[in-house]
Parts: sequence; structure tokens; C-alpha cells
Amino acid sequence: MVKKRRIVQIGFIFFLLVVGFLNYYENQKLKQNFDRFLIKDSFFLGAMDKVFGALENRHEIMTFVQGDLWALRVGKMRIVDPLALIGNITRTRSFYLPMIIFAMIPIIFTIIFGRFYCGWLCPMGLLGEVNAKIREFIINSNISLFDVNLSTKAKYYVLGFGLFTGMVFGVHYFFVIYPPKLISYEIYSLITYGYVSYGFFTILTISIIEILFGSRLWCRSICPGGALYSLISKIRVVGVSNEKEACNACGICDKKCPHDAVPSGAAATSECDQCGICIDICPKKSLSYSKRNFADIFNRKTLLFFIITILYFNASTVEAHHVRGLPHYAYAENYQETATIEENKTQGDMEIVFSYLRVFKSKNYMMAVYIKNKITDKPYEGTVNFLVFGRHESPDAAHSADVSDPMAHTFRAGWSYEEDGVYTVRISFVEEGKKYVEDFTLQAGNVGFNYLWIIIPFAVVFFLIGLILYKRNKEMKLGTKIRIRS
Ligand code: SF4
Ligand code: SF4
Repeated sequence: MVKKRRIVQIGFIFFLLVVGFLNYYENQKLKQNFDRFLIKDSFFLGAMDKVFGALENRHEIMTFVQGDLWALRVGKMRIVDPLALIGNITRTRSFYLPMIIFAMIPIIFTIIFGRFYCGWLCPMGLLGEVNAKIREFIINSNISLFDVNLSTKAKYYVLGFGLFTGMVFGVHYFFVIYPPKLISYEIYSLITYGYVSYGFFTILTISIIEILFGSRLWCRSICPGGALYSLISKIRVVGVSNEKEACNACGICDKKCPHDAVPSGAAATSECDQCGICIDICPKKSLSYSKRNFADIFNRKTLLFFIITILYFNASTVEAHHVRGLPHYAYAENYQETATIEENKTQGDMEIVFSYLRVFKSKNYMMAVYIKNKITDKPYEGTVNFLVFGRHESPDAAHSADVSDPMAHTFRAGWSYEEDGVYTVRISFVEEGKKYVEDFTLQAGNVGFNYLWIIIPFAVVFFLIGLILYKRNKEMKLGTKIRIRS
């Protein structure tokens, strides 16, 4: 099992590299090919160009997969990490249905296969195993290292604290510490820009800490993503289980399990990342992946978890843009994972993409427009006029701006608002003598329903029910003790 898993893990990293190179090639091709083609300057890009350059649907093939492990696009499908989803729900205190849908693929896979993402796909899972081997080698060479045994529960505090800071201060820290996001971004950065950024040093620090202080410390005890996957995995359908008849209770599996998931019990706990180490190591071949019983999946605790999750997913409108955690992709620049929402409209041959960003905790917005001719594939390069007005206002020249200096073919304009509300952004430009006018919607400030007003009473009710159950449980235990004594 471990060998198969290794092939999948290495294959997945190879896949990230290939995606990075294909995207990079396409970016360069698009950037440079419109006026002057410089790809021949680079030996590698030149070689790629020989293979792919003449393909008819080159652009679709090269950009079939874009993004990183925080937010990814595969063809028309988008996938968002569930950690990005809950981080943003908490931070914006609002819901964005497409993002919930995009996170459903990893959530459903986790419901079926448990925390398999950690064991089979996440690059940090593989790196953690490499770190553990290095640590083992150092210890076997008679060099003593520290032995820190952090509880597996610690990661739930890391997750909970991030959600708390998101809810109270509007910032969570997940994307600056979450290894799959950092590693996949660093791969992209290295290929695209030729250098690594802070994420590389974060991963390096985690690795040094794991080697010096304890194997798999990060994934077992700290990762907020691992914590979230473990929580979802409480209702997994497939998991490691023990055929008790063959088991001689030697305990080898429990000792070797990197996540303290106790596979020697009837079934491994939800900490299990389905790595298969215990299955391979069991001398009696007593362990296997199997379908769990319905009753095990839906016990009282998991039902409670389910109910709370459903309450949490009570939809309303959202604030906007970069806080949403969705990937967006300009045509000429492969912006990775930058969270935004885009509105995309077509008029004649011209495709107009509008997006906007609220400047953090201010009343200012940045608006961005990308326009291209769909027939020639050429981005528009003239002047774009932005005109903003409220629902019940008439267009006012005071809120108008002409922009003729695009950055990476994207026209940008700033705008400040006084009152929260829904505004219209009218984009106009002239191409080959024809005037194009298109209206887009911008939500400024808080126009949605704050779900906290629903969550708070439910939380109070749940707290009271929990208190009653706890008291009753205690009384019953006391009753049993008294009975035993008497
Ligand atoms: S616990 Fe976190 S870092 Fe470790 S494998 Fe899972 S997602 Fe990756
Ligand atoms: S229970 Fe087995 S499969 Fe699960 S994490 Fe532990 S060793 Fe890996």
C-alpha cells in the first residue's frame, strides 16, 4: 500500500510541476506573441514551443489546469480547499454559493475516503515522511534529538483560533501557514519568477522543527487543514478497520501509526490519513480498508457536528472580491489563486471581464477591467471609462474616470463610497469606431444578511442542551456509583 501511495504522492508533485511549466509557457506565449515573439530566447521555452506552438487549441490545453492547491481550476470545474472556504466564510461573515459548491469536491471525497488528501496527495504529507526518515537516520547515528509529544488535539485549537481571529478581526492566518498552499505556490513562483518567497522558508522551518523535535509534528498536531479534514472525516464511509479474529493485539500498528489513530481498535479514528502503514505492517494481516457501518458513522457526536455544519452554511450575500478565495485568471497573466469574483460579458466580438476589490477595512474599491477581442484573441489597448452610480442615482460625471494605461492589459480605477449598497459600474470604450457600453454590479460594504444573528440563538440553545445532557450524564454516573456501593 505504501508503495502505491508513494507513486501517487510523487506523481502529484510531478503534476504540479507540469501544470506550472505549461502555464508559464502559455503566459510567455500570450505576453510576447502578440507583437514580438521572444520565446526563442529561452532554450526551454523554445523547445516547448516546437512541441506545442502549432497546436490549434493550444491555449485550452496549456491552461486546462490553473491555480494551486488553495484554489484550482480544472477545465470548467473549480476546486477550492475547504479550509479556504471556512476561512472566508468566517472572515466575511457571509456565504458565496459558488465557492461552497467548489469546495464540495474535496469535502465529498473526504466524506467517502476520510483524510486521504493528507496521506495521498498533500506534498507536506510526503515531506513530513521524508523529515521523519531524516530524523530516524540522525537518531540511528547516535545523535540525540529532542522528543516533543504534542497532542493531536492541538491542531483543532490552531483551526479554532484562526476562525476566531477571522470572525473578530476579519483576518485569518491559514493561507500563510498552510503547507499545500505554500508548497504549490512556491513551485509556481520558482517556475514563473525564478525565485522562492516566504512560503519556502516557512516549509523549511517546519521541516527543521520536525527533524529536531518530533516526527510528523505538523500534520499530526498543528495543521489547521489536517484538523478540518479530520473533522469531516468523522463521517467517512471508508476507513481502516480491524478483523478482530486474526488480530493478536501485538500493538505494532498503534506504535507505527503517525497520527495516533489507534488502528488496533475496531476502526481507526478520524485522525487516520489512510496512509496504509498499519495495513502493511500488521503481521497477521488483520487490518484493511473497508466500508464502515452506518451506525458507526452516524453516532450522536457526528450528528451534532452535522447539524452545526448545516446551521453554519446558512446562505446570504457576500461582501466581495479577494476575500472570497476564488481563483481568477486574467488572459495574459496567470494570476494564481487570487481570490475574486469576475463578471464576464460579451458584446459583439468583445469580451469584457470586470472584477473589484475592497481595499482592506476602508471605503475604497479598486475596479479592474480586462477586454479582449474574442476573434483575434488580442487584448484591447485603448481608453476605458469607468462610471459608478447607485441604484437610485443617475450617472454622475463626478464618479467617472478615463483609464488609458493598462497594467498587464488590465484597466484599473479606484472609487470611494459613502453609503453601503449595490452600485452600477458602467464600462465604456471605443474600438474601431464602435462604442461599447456595459453595466456591471458592485456591492459596496455590507449589503448582506449577517448570519451571526441566526447562529447566536442556535448556539445558545445548543449550549443549554449540552449543559442539560452533561448534568444528566453526571447524575446517571453518580446514580450508578451509588448503586454499586449499596
Ligand atoms: S495535515 Fe496539513 S500539511 Fe499535513 S498532509 Fe494534511 S493538509 Fe497537508
Ligand atoms: S491508522 Fe493506519 S492508515 Fe491510518 S494513519 Fe495510522 S497507520 Fe496510517
